Amino acid sequence: MRVLILGAGITGCTLGRLMKDKDYHISIKEKQDHIGGLCYTKTSPNGILYEPYGGHAFHTKDSRIKKFVLNFSEFNNYIHKKGIFINGVLRHFPLSRKTIFEMERSDKILKELEKRPITPDFTNFETFAISQFGNTLYKLFIYNYSKKMWGVEPKELTTEYIQNRITLKDSNTQLFEDNFQGLPVKGYTKFLRNMIHDIPIELNTSEFDESLYDLIIYSGRIDELFKFKFGILHFRSLRFDYKENDVWENDNYGTINLPQHAKYIRKVNFKIMYQQKINKSWTQYQEPISFYNNMPMYPIYTKQNIELFDRYLIEACKSNKIIPVGRLGLYKYLEMGQAISLAMNMILLIEKWKKLSPKNRYLEIKKLLNN
Ligand SMILES: Cc1cc2nc3c(=O)[nH]c(=O)nc-3n(C[C@H](O)[C@H](O)[C@H](O)COP(=O)(O)OP(=O)(O)OC[C@H]3O[C@@H](n4cnc5c(N)ncnc54)[C@H](O)[C@@H]3O)c2cc1C
Repeated sequence: MRVLILGAGITGCTLGRLMKDKDYHISIKEKQDHIGGLCYTKTSPNGILYEPYGGHAFHTKDSRIKKFVLNFSEFNNYIHKKGIFINGVLRHFPLSRKTIFEMERSDKILKELEKRPITPDFTNFETFAISQFGNTLYKLFIYNYSKKMWGVEPKELTTEYIQNRITLKDSNTQLFEDNFQGLPVKGYTKFLRNMIHDIPIELNTSEFDESLYDLIIYSGRIDELFKFKFGILHFRSLRFDYKENDVWENDNYGTINLPQHAKYIRKVNFKIMYQQKINKSWTQYQEPISFYNNMPMYPIYTKQNIELFDRYLIEACKSNKIIPVGRLGLYKYLEMGQAISLAMNMILLIEKWKKLSPKNRYLEIKKLLNN
């Protein structure tokens, strides 16, 4: 079977590898001039590995994924830890009771925490966050950050993104609880190149002749696939500034959130993430911006966007040949481990796609997305 994969991000490369290993005839087309999608590593002018689309820390607790990725690179043992600047003081993130005890208004905060409802309020992002953290912590740690990050009032967002991302811990913990963490020692581009080393790939193109393939796996934007006929699915993007040999307040943290900064949302220290033993550094400052004419990065989970995606998905499932996958095709924020897991789980569906009715294709994709 001749299969074309559109997009050489981590989803396209994983599917390429898995399907090639099952003897499908695979080729890839990538519209940019490099592979990797958002997981792209370059070298800075002062010789440090860095990621032009934001720092990526790999993490998984799934041994099947760990085994898969280790086929293509050695990983360093960087454990992702994050700081957050609040009122000029660097605190640990995620929030913990330990941090709260160190804060000025801890009595008030603790009283608010005691009054939290047993079940979180899932009405929207804001009600959920307040029901988990109380008003004071919400205002200090979450409101400004989220408004700047998403470019909309948090109450306009659903709980889709926040639900499993922000929790109150008892003590200061690492950001991810997964037992396998790190970065590919030579960067993500090299790691993905190794993954698809024997698969023909054409860069700088998204043109293809449908009649030449039996199946087309599409990891681009689903709204673009249909020429935006139902409307545009909104994303948030980032703009990046860099500083050489910048001040870095605490080497335990690879990234530091800046909720109260007028412009930037966070800063990333690549020397720490890549554990580079070099007497220089390269810091990336990230500014959230609209995605028009910029890279679509984070799906914005408003009710309207979620409903619009559903219309596109129903439309996509009518095709016998083109299957949407990945972050852009399925309009879902996926960590890299989740992107690999979803790709692995989609193989069965891809193999029986032509035999399923559009309704069953849709139901199966929804089931995989809700897993
Ligand atoms: C700022 C930021 C930081 C992140 N940090 C982390 C992190 O620390 N840890 C973590 O696990 N995850 C992180 N992620 C998530 C990670 O980036 C995603 O898991 C990953 O990008 C998903 O890969 P993908 O292949 O689905 O999508 P993408 O990486 O977007 O790849 C899609 C590819 O398809 C190409 N393409 C699009 N349309 C077409 C077309 N028509 N024809 C041909 N090619 C096309 C694109 O150019 C792109 O190369 C982060 C995401 C962001 C935005």
